[in-house]
Amino acid sequence: MSLKDKVAVVTGAASGIGKEIAREFLAAGASVAIADLNAQAAAATAAEFDPTGARAMGVAMDVTDEAGVEAGIEAVAQKFGAIDVLVSNAGIQIVAPVHEMAFGDWKKLLAIHLDGAFLTTRACLKRMYAQGRGGSVIYMGSVHSKEASRLKAPYVTAKHGLVGLAKVVAKEGAAHGVRANVICPGFVRTPLVEKQIPEQARELGISEEDVVRTVMLKDTVDGEFTTIADVAQTAVFLAAFPTNALTGQSIVVSHGWFMQ
Ligand code: NAD
Repeated sequence: MSLKDKVAVVTGAASGIGKEIAREFLAAGASVAIADLNAQAAAATAAEFDPTGARAMGVAMDVTDEAGVEAGIEAVAQKFGAIDVLVSNAGIQIVAPVHEMAFGDWKKLLAIHLDGAFLTTRACLKRMYAQGRGGSVIYMGSVHSKEASRLKAPYVTAKHGLVGLAKVVAKEGAAHGVRANVICPGFVRTPLVEKQIPEQARELGISEEDVVRTVMLKDTVDGEFTTIADVAQTAVFLAAFPTNALTGQSIVVSHGWFMQ
């Protein structure tokens, strides 16, 4: 699957899943904007992947900041001349039971996952429609777009919400050849998950090993974590797919944790 001559923006691309997607997109021939709240890490990632700066750029972007998103996407369009693919991937996790969840934490998580998805989508869609050469919008959902877990109310709510947004963008974008889909990974061992293991152990009163074995991987077919490569290859497939046949879908990549 080739992304030759395509321009992609990946948010949250200075770490974990987003970083691997940026790497795979570059390998597939795309020019890639590595957008992240952590400006220094975004610039370092771009320099690591393409020291010439010809096909990778770091973009400082807080996806919850309307003006910042507009400015960041404009900078990408200026440098690479187009926007063909958006991967709305930036995300965080905050774990607590609903009855103890701080309102500020609820709002912070929803803002990054949902406001961020909306703002980046709006900024990219305008350009995709004007360019008239189609496009692909990919949201980083989760098995938690389909399933619930204890302690993750805002995350599960946000990840379900992204499925709705993708379906609307699929319907509105069809006339312009713009597709929208959601990738729903199982647990991937990134910094986001490493942080949760001790937190969940504390909340649930079990060992860290038991969090991995009896909470995170309990329902997989093989007791394995999903990898960043598994998710990145799925992103390349969705980004490169040539027609509206594959749109409005959510694809679960989870070692069988969730089967639909
Ligand atoms: P990560 O913590 O390794 O990376 C997240 C990146 O997002 C970081 O570089 C961070 O700086 C950036 N970020 C955070 N807030 C931001 C903001 N406001 N604006 C711009 N960038 C911001 O996490 P990850 O595991 O790679 O997660 C990436 C996505 O994958 C998230 O949406 C997450 O919910 C989703 N996901 C992760 C897993 C998993 O098990 N790791 C499973 C399913 C879905």
